[in-house]
Amino acid sequence: MKNTTPIAIHWFRRDFRLNDNAALYHALKSGYPVQPIFIFDEAILSKLQNRSDARVTFIMEEITKLKKSLNELGADLLVYHGNPMEIWKQLLAEFTIQQVFTNEDYEPYATKRDQETAQLLATHGVRFNTFKDQVIFAKDEILKDDGTPYSIFTPYSKKWKAKLNASFLEPYPTEQHTDAYFKSNPTTLISLEQLQFQKSSIPFPLPKLSKSILENYTKNRDFPALNGTSNLSIHLRFGTISIRSLAQKALQFNETYLNELIWREFYQMILYKYPHVVNNSFKPAYDRIPWQNNEEEFAKWCNGQTGYPLVDAGMRELNTTGLMHNRVRMVTASFLIKHLLIDWRWGEAYFAEKLLDFELASNNGGWQWAASSGCDAAPYFRVFNPSLQMKRFDPNNQYIKKWVPELNTSTYPKPIVDHEFARKRVLTVYKNALS
Ligand code: FAD
Repeated sequence: MKNTTPIAIHWFRRDFRLNDNAALYHALKSGYPVQPIFIFDEAILSKLQNRSDARVTFIMEEITKLKKSLNELGADLLVYHGNPMEIWKQLLAEFTIQQVFTNEDYEPYATKRDQETAQLLATHGVRFNTFKDQVIFAKDEILKDDGTPYSIFTPYSKKWKAKLNASFLEPYPTEQHTDAYFKSNPTTLISLEQLQFQKSSIPFPLPKLSKSILENYTKNRDFPALNGTSNLSIHLRFGTISIRSLAQKALQFNETYLNELIWREFYQMILYKYPHVVNNSFKPAYDRIPWQNNEEEFAKWCNGQTGYPLVDAGMRELNTTGLMHNRVRMVTASFLIKHLLIDWRWGEAYFAEKLLDFELASNNGGWQWAASSGCDAAPYFRVFNPSLQMKRFDPNNQYIKKWVPELNTSTYPKPIVDHEFARKRVLTVYKNALS
C-alpha cells in the first residue's frame, strides 16, 4: 500500500557520509521528511569479474555504518538491488515522493543514468535536484577567459586557486537538521551473499592525514617505502571524507598536497568535457600507434614477473593490497606502454579491476599521461628507466625487498626486454605513427 506522507528522498551514490553532504543538507532543508536510499546497481555489479571484489565489501561496510547511524536517529537507510530505473518506478509506487536530492557524478554512465532518472521523475511531477559535492569546482566552473576548457594543468590550477574563497570550503551543517529524517523502523539490510558476492579479505587503508604527513608531504611523497602520502583515495572515491574539509587542511599545511587534489578535479573536468577519452586518446594522433599487444608479456606484467624489480614490486603490491604508490603507478604504466608496446587501455582495464581507489577520471588520466596521449601528458620521448627510478626513489631497496624477496636469487626472472633496445624501439614507433 502506498505511503501517503509526502517525503523527499536522498539518493546516496559516492557520498557515503551524513556530515557535510551537499545534497543531503538541501534535502533536510526541503521541508519534507527525508528518506535516504542506496541502490546496488546491477549494471555495475555484473561487470565485476571477482566475486570477492573488495570495493563491494567496502561499500557494504560503509552503508552498514550509515544505516546504523540513521537507525540511532529513528530513521532508516533503504537499500535496493537492481536496475535504478526499475527501482525508481517501485519507489514512486510505494511512496508519495515530492522531491529527490542527490550529488552529481561526472562519469558518462552516471550522467546518462541521471538524465533518465530526471525524465522519469518529471513524468510524475517530481523534481530531481543535483548538487556539487565531491569536488570544489566542477564542470564549467574553471574555464579559460574565452570560455573553453583547459587542457593544461598549471593554468587550470592557477585559475582554480584564484577562484577559491572561504565560501567554497564551508561545510554543510547537516547535523543541525537531523529532526528532518523520515522516521521509520529499521529494515533488514541486503547481504553480500544476496548480491552474490563474498567478503573480501583485503584490509582497507586507514586515512593517514596527520599534520606530520602533510608537513613532510613534499619531500616524502615520491618514496614508496616512506608511508608519506595520505591514503585517502578510496575515501575520496566513495565520499567517506568531505573534499571541503580536506582542501581546508591542504590550504593550511601544504600546497603540493593541494595541487594533487586539484589534479583529481582537473581529470574529472577533462572526463566531463571530453568523454571520448574513455575509449580514445585525448590527442587523436596517438590512436595511430601500432601496439604489439603480446599476451604473454602482458601476463608477466600483470603478475609482477618482468625482471624489473620496481615494476614487479608495484604489480605485486597491487595484486595483494588493491593499491599502489603513485610513483610506482607511473613507472609500471610507462613500462607496459613504452617498454612492451602494449595498448594503454589494457593496463587501464587491469588497474580498474584491481584498484580499491579506482576512479575512471584519475585512472584514465594517469594512463593517458603515461602513454603521452593525454591532455597534459609526459612528452612521448620521455621513457622512464625503471632501474634508475628504483635507485632514485627506493635507494635502499626497502620497498623492493618487501614485494620481491627473491631478488638476486636464481628464481627471479631475467629482464623481459632490454631497456636500451625498448627505448629506441618505442621512440621509432611513436615517431613514425605521429609524423
Ligand atoms: P596522496 O598523495 O595522499 O594524494 C591525495 C589525494 O589526491 C589522493 O587521494 C587522490 O584523490 C588525489 N591525487 C593524488 N595524485 C593524483 C593524481 N596524479 N591524479 C589524480 N588525483 C590524484 N587515483 C585514484 O584516485 N584512482 C585511480 O583509479 C587512479 N589511477 C591512477 C592510474 C595511474 C596510471 C596513475 C599514474 C595514477 C593514478 N591515480 C589514481 C592517482 C594516484 O596514484 C592516487 O590518487 C594516489 O596514489 C592515491 O594515494 P594517496 O591517497 O595516498 O595519495
